[in-house]
Amino acid sequence: MSTNPTTSLPFLSYGRQSIDQADIDAVTAVLRSDFLTQGPEVERFETSLAQACGAKHAIAYSHGTAALFGACWAAGVQAGDEVITSAITFAASANCAAYLGAQPVFVDVLADTCTLDPALVAQAITAKTKAIIPVDFTGHPADLAEIYALAKQHGLVVIQDAAHSLGASYLGEPVGCGRYSDMTMLSFHPVKHITTGEGGAVLTNDDRLAARLRLFRNHGIERDPQRFVTQPSPGPWFHEMQELGHNFRLTDLQAALGRSQMTRLGEFVKRRQEIALLYDHLLAQVAGVEPLGRKADRESSFHLYAVRVDYAGLGIDRAEVMNRLRDLAIGTQVHYIPVYRHPYHQRTLQAAGQRWEPEHFPNAEGFYAQALSLPMYPGLSDADVTRVVVSLAQVLHPQGK
Ligand SMILES: *Cc1c(COP(=O)(O)O)cnc(C)c1O
Repeated sequence: MSTNPTTSLPFLSYGRQSIDQADIDAVTAVLRSDFLTQGPEVERFETSLAQACGAKHAIAYSHGTAALFGACWAAGVQAGDEVITSAITFAASANCAAYLGAQPVFVDVLADTCTLDPALVAQAITAKTKAIIPVDFTGHPADLAEIYALAKQHGLVVIQDAAHSLGASYLGEPVGCGRYSDMTMLSFHPVKHITTGEGGAVLTNDDRLAARLRLFRNHGIERDPQRFVTQPSPGPWFHEMQELGHNFRLTDLQAALGRSQMTRLGEFVKRRQEIALLYDHLLAQVAGVEPLGRKADRESSFHLYAVRVDYAGLGIDRAEVMNRLRDLAIGTQVHYIPVYRHPYHQRTLQAAGQRWEPEHFPNAEGFYAQALSLPMYPGLSDADVTRVVVSLAQVLHPQGK
């Protein structure tokens, strides 16, 4: 772990992976095996994901972003379509629609949880809408039942962006079980709940979508003779490129790491939840800091611990807060810059006559003005969490006021 020269304390980043000897052994075993790229380990990893989430199929991808792209493609998203997603998310939640020539449409979030506002989603649906991509921001599931009911009423596909919420539950069921989504996407970037270095997956209970997701990640090539257009199959060499796909395969090296990490998912999520409760408790004593709202009918898996800081009321600049915390060996981040503010999306929304002006997104703007993500990962000790809160209090209230 890196240390900061001004404090000699270990630097606490906003998120990081937890790797143990079993993870290292799992990867080195693959290096000695016959398969390096997609092989038996990928299938085993997919089985562990599907089982943990209560889904029929898990289809592993090279990146979460590629998994979202595959889900949009499998859903039949194409040029001329509109795809609704949250104003507060990582750009990938919208880019997946843009890759296919569809128009991302941003909808404001609820003020308390910062997840997609179902009432505003209803207003944003048009004859061109094809899919809705709710985002379980910070690990707290979105209002999935309302959004799914709305989608089915209008014949739309729901692709749940669960990059933050592996291990979370909604109305007593695990995220990814498919009761309130057609497909659920996961990411295995190192800051997420489990890691494969880079990686992602789509969960679905639909056999047809699963087959399309498998085609798309492997150049659109079909190898199952039963599914060939050419019948009967001319011989053992034969395969068919049936669609224009990509190489979005996960490697066996990565899948072995992912499967080893999955054995500790419960432990990781439990520790994240403990850390969140400790933050809640300690931050109650710090004026001008509020944790994000949470709903009692769902359990967050806390990818992030995001707070609102009343920078204006405290008369302090956010950049200064972040810089001073960094000098105290504490990393923070802002999740997220509202996606419609990025020049690419601003430009394309403007050209399409879609809403991009900040005044259309009062809750996203309000949150963005106050947002700060504090360190959150299973390796944090209670003393680390206390140090974060004491440091934040020092920076926000230098005179102990
Ligand atoms: C991480 C993330 C993604 C993309 O995942 P990658 O694996 O990094 O490509 C998509 N959506 C959200 C909300 C994310 O946080």
